[in-house]
Amino acid sequence: MNSHLPENTVASTWSRSLVAPESIPERADIVVIGGGIVGVSAAWFLARQGVDVVLCEKGHIAGEQSGRNWGWVRIQGRDTREIPMMLESMRIWEGLAGEIGEDVGFVRGGCFYTANSRKQFEAYDQWARVAADHDIDTRLISASEIKQHVRGSAINWAGAMHTPSDGRAEPHKAAPAIARAAAKAGATVLASCAVRGLETSGGSVSAVVTEHGVIKTSTVACVAGAWTSMFCRSLGIDVPQLRVRGTVARTAPAEKLLEGTLFDDRLGIRRRQDGGYTVANASVLECPITPSSFRYFFKFVPALVQELKLIRLSIGRDFVDEWSTPRKWRLDEESPFEKTRVLNPKPTPGVLKGIRRNLDTVFPQLKDTPIIESWAGMIESSPDVVPIIDSIDSLPGFHVATGFSGHGFGIGPGAGKAVAGMLTGVDSGIDISALRLSRFFDGSPIRPQAGI
Ligand SMILES: Cc1cc2nc3c(=O)[nH]c(=O)nc-3n(C[C@H](O)[C@H](O)[C@H](O)COP(=O)(O)OP(=O)(O)OC[C@H]3O[C@@H](n4cnc5c(N)ncnc54)[C@H](O)[C@@H]3O)c2cc1C
Repeated sequence: MNSHLPENTVASTWSRSLVAPESIPERADIVVIGGGIVGVSAAWFLARQGVDVVLCEKGHIAGEQSGRNWGWVRIQGRDTREIPMMLESMRIWEGLAGEIGEDVGFVRGGCFYTANSRKQFEAYDQWARVAADHDIDTRLISASEIKQHVRGSAINWAGAMHTPSDGRAEPHKAAPAIARAAAKAGATVLASCAVRGLETSGGSVSAVVTEHGVIKTSTVACVAGAWTSMFCRSLGIDVPQLRVRGTVARTAPAEKLLEGTLFDDRLGIRRRQDGGYTVANASVLECPITPSSFRYFFKFVPALVQELKLIRLSIGRDFVDEWSTPRKWRLDEESPFEKTRVLNPKPTPGVLKGIRRNLDTVFPQLKDTPIIESWAGMIESSPDVVPIIDSIDSLPGFHVATGFSGHGFGIGPGAGKAVAGMLTGVDSGIDISALRLSRFFDGSPIRPQAGI
């Protein structure tokens, strides 16, 4: 692996050589499993409360979704259940660099969802009313107003939904910087340290078993992104989750056409701190069929129906990989988490071609700007596309935070604060009651938000 990549590449986040920790603590008040933005933020808040917290990451900090995402930090269009947590997250992002003493690339550049049809406008109008109820500065704007903020587009959009206070940040910087802040505040952050499973005593959590030894603890948070369902299944806990592949590209630095982020039927685009653009195809959802697709099929039907036109099903390696992974494993042998240190799917060539084509169609001024890096990430989705943050009653001491469904980067710091509150009982001020796991099993209707 190339360890001399420039700092601003996505690959630089996850291509460092893996060095096992020299030692691990014998015990901790709390162990967090997973070094993505939610896990490191939880560890940061816990350490600041004086909690003795250990974070275990099987690969690199931000090696998976948190270092591979588009870098949008938006409240616009969110499910109402996420709004309190996202408002708090925005407040944290605003002061983050000052608090941790490191740049994370956060800029309030605004977010645009462009509209081409009356139906789209109606959906946006509904959300703008929700925004007004929460004092969020979302507005519907006209075609001419878009042109004041977004230059060089060849598309005559009918209008857009716009939230000027929405932002962007740099995924390759944010979670690693928060992890360093957590360590400075007293957390023990262990990379290359997979958690294989748990030990229990009297039916409650008593330790985590890592590949480097046992850490005694009574409280564990599984914040393991795309691995959460598998980890929980090995404990007999059902967490419905499917993986969706996202292919992403970035351009070389180019003229400034917009300050923040824009979502059109064809592409999602974000201005980067290095002057380039992070770009993805908005009209494709790459869904690999796996054994979990059958296991959770009925729970995901509403989401599948809603996104039917965008879904591209495929069957291949992902099916075989999941099929051949045991349901349970011995804790004194290599686990699936060590076998795949970093989930690093290949970008899909056809989708990359589409990104180039759509970019040239929407912003012809970028026709000669080369794409200089591409990558992919596995997004984990819950059936209603809203996170699950909950304590597991059947295993006292065990908690989960997962299902961020393609929009957990922006909400990550707020989610970390909410998780810390759930673990310590200290009121975080964020209501997570609607994010309970049981909503998928108690007959509640599973309602993904309507298409925005
Ligand atoms: C292509 C793409 C685009 C996206 N765009 C955006 C966006 O613009 N805005 C936005 O808000 N969100 C976006 N997202 C979603 C966002 O990145 C995620 O929701 C968020 O990063 C989830 O953070 P996390 O900490 O929960 O999980 P992750 O970042 O996935 O971290 C989980 C970590 O747990 C580790 N782990 C798993 N199992 C174990 C184990 N047993 N032991 C130890 N460690 C373990 C993994 O290695 C991983 O590093 C996007 C995602 C992708 C892939």
